[in-house]
Parts: sequence; C-alpha cells; structure tokens
Amino acid sequence: MEIVVPDAYRHLFDQESHAPVVKIPAEVLRQTAKPIERVTNRHKFLAENMVKIMRQARGIGIAAPQVGVSERLIVVQPDSQPIILYNPEILEMEGSQIGEEGCLSIPGLYGDVERAAWLKVKGLDRKGRESTWEMEGMAARVVLHEVDHLDGVLFTDKVDAATLHWRLPDEEDE
Ligand code: ZN
Repeated sequence: MEIVVPDAYRHLFDQESHAPVVKIPAEVLRQTAKPIERVTNRHKFLAENMVKIMRQARGIGIAAPQVGVSERLIVVQPDSQPIILYNPEILEMEGSQIGEEGCLSIPGLYGDVERAAWLKVKGLDRKGRESTWEMEGMAARVVLHEVDHLDGVLFTDKVDAATLHWRLPDEEDE
C-alpha cells in the first residue's frame, strides 16, 4: 500500500533534532536488520537512547531501524518499565486479538491490526543474557509490531485497510 501523507500531517514527518525518529519512506525501515553478535557498550548506549526517544515521542515501543540503525534491537514499554530485547525471536504464539495500532515512523496514521493474543519471545536482555519472556494483550501486540520493524515490515502492511485513518497524535493521549 502506498501511503500518501495529507498536507495537514506533513509537518509530523520532518526529521529534526527534537523529533529524531526516522519516518517513511526512509529505506532503513524496509531493510532486514542484522543480528547483534555481542551486546557491547555501543548497543547499551543505543538502547538507552532509544528509551529516551520513545518516551519523548510518547510511544510504547521502538525498534533500532526507527533511529536509523539496522540492527536487531527493540524496546517495549507497555507498562511502566522499558524492556530491552536484543535479537528478539518469537518462539510461540497463541490466540488472536484485533486492536488499533499507530507507528512513530508514520505519525498520525492509525488502523486495526490482528495479532496473536499471547506469545513467548526469546532474546538477550539489557545485560546481554539469554532470556525468555511471556507476554499477552498489549505487550504481545507491541512486541510483534516492533519485531516486524526488524524485518522491514510496517503495520500498514497488515492493517485492515477499511479502518485506516489519520488523526493528529495530540488529539489523544497516545
Ligand atoms: Zn512502528
């Protein structure tokens, strides 16, 4: 699907120092991100920076390609604490849920996406230790959205097109 940004939303797509998230149609958002062989200080710095950028943009998840880095790292914050996952890999999924999604790389566009209701994901935690997490509901949705980013997939590839709509992000407390 080709996304045409309405004039009233075009300013949201400017990439500036106060809004550093990479927006469509940046090529990096369509690339397959590289695995991280070892979690280094550079990665830890990158992850902390992603947490800051995500909070500043009032998002609940962000993937490294969204800050211009094509490596397999995501941050999700469905609750109060951010979770950092390097090389996330979905091991199991169950059930389904339909809910509205948006994306910091496509600001102002929203639509319903069907996702698994529950999942088990493995990866390296913030200290580089192998871990698994089980997540459901919104947390599962955010993880699946962010893992898609690592494979160059955007929510608009999976959205129920009939529900796709533009809404200024400030109109709701997203
Ligand atoms: Zn996104």
